[in-house]
Amino acid sequence: MFSFTSIKDYQSCLLNGQTTCVEAVSYYLQRIEANIHLNAFLETYSEEALIQAADLDVLLQSGKLVGKLHGVIVAVKDVICYQNHPVSAASKILENFTSVYNATVVEKLIAEGAIIIGRNNCDEFAMGSSNENSAFGKVLNSKDNNRVPGGSSGGSAVAVQAGLCMISLGSDTGGSVRQPADFCGIIGLKPGYGRISRYGLIAYASSFDQIGIFANNIYDAALTLEIIAGKDEFDGTVSSAEVPAFSEMLNIENRKYKIAYFRETLEHPSLDPEIAASIRSSIQKLIDNGHTVEPVNFDLLDFIVPAYYILTTAEASSNLSRYDGIKYGFSAKTDFGDLTEFYKRSRSEGFGKEVKRRIMLGTFVLSAGYYDAYFTKAQQVRQILLKTTQAIFKNYDAIIGPTVPSPAFRIGEKSNDPIEMFLADIYTVFANLVGIPAISLPLFTHSSGMPFGIQAMVSQGNELTLLRLSKMFMDLKGKE
Ligand code: GLN
Repeated sequence: MFSFTSIKDYQSCLLNGQTTCVEAVSYYLQRIEANIHLNAFLETYSEEALIQAADLDVLLQSGKLVGKLHGVIVAVKDVICYQNHPVSAASKILENFTSVYNATVVEKLIAEGAIIIGRNNCDEFAMGSSNENSAFGKVLNSKDNNRVPGGSSGGSAVAVQAGLCMISLGSDTGGSVRQPADFCGIIGLKPGYGRISRYGLIAYASSFDQIGIFANNIYDAALTLEIIAGKDEFDGTVSSAEVPAFSEMLNIENRKYKIAYFRETLEHPSLDPEIAASIRSSIQKLIDNGHTVEPVNFDLLDFIVPAYYILTTAEASSNLSRYDGIKYGFSAKTDFGDLTEFYKRSRSEGFGKEVKRRIMLGTFVLSAGYYDAYFTKAQQVRQILLKTTQAIFKNYDAIIGPTVPSPAFRIGEKSNDPIEMFLADIYTVFANLVGIPAISLPLFTHSSGMPFGIQAMVSQGNELTLLRLSKMFMDLKGKE
């Protein structure tokens, strides 16, 4: 019977003939089918995945893996383009739209022998924190079907949580990889802005968006990152810095870290007391193990959610103006006599409630009379945050804290109150505002029975430190 613990183990089983790629694909297809109620996949590519697996099995007869991800079964969020496959951003406005090219990450995965098994459900245009905003139905947390999996990459998180694939890709504009990872009890890595090409990622807020990785262990996340990261002529914002072989550099014995945490974060009234206590006990454990962990003041905490929602909605209102009912996907059934009426109808019928709310909010904050009061102010907050962060990283290797203020909430609990939903992003949006790498690590279980994590962040370009630190956290947990 097939079982999966890590890419390393799986590939050694492939090499010694204990399993085959076809067996792995068949196993996951059957698991996806058995868990169809979770609604984690919008579509699976069963036939072609099986054909690719059979080809990879033939190639393995020479005794060598074709690439670092030989036979690895991957699922991708429905905002990442896979040539000749539909991509909809979980929106009706892109229904029946087919990608005409591959995202750079998809090219890189395939070049290393990965098999893409399907596309994952998500919040429409990656806007949301609970996966209740998809035009194709909500996703259920597999740990408790009455609770949300988090969002917006809820389907990708559940795909890994429920063992429906080995790794998955999501996108993180304000926490959409780390928050669902926290709610689902898995690892969620958002690299620094510009580490991974956004070419072929459907844009939400371009100066925040970053592709991220869901995995069961740090090695798998590190291996995936080293493959999909790196410069790309199709995305001018990607760093040209060398990508280290992260997966081979994870172990460093006895390194002592200097870590900060934001005092205001742990004292915030919205933070669940059990989560606060667990983070405090982690801090104590680190100190007991010889690391330095110190509080730093961060009086900007209450400004970051407003700044995030002003800037991202502004960018979204511009990015989403391309969906006019003519160039892509859905068109309203009306005659073309009045073009403005046609645009209005197509957008009104094609976009969901949350997306419309954000387009309107973004258009408002960019409008002549309000630009300075909102957009410029929020840009100033972003600049101050950047300076504050750079100053902190002069003295510390990392910043740690909770990923989310509460564990996974019940379906419907926050869906009628957008502000309450937005406030749940209080700890994750910071890393996107300043563009730094961040990760959520599944270390704890709440008395509600739900998992939750710790978040670690490092300075721009330092994913290696983040992964090493994460490995140390996971190893410490393993020893408990
Ligand atoms: N919850 C945040 C939002 O709705 C984050 C979304 C994301 O990271 N894509 O904007």
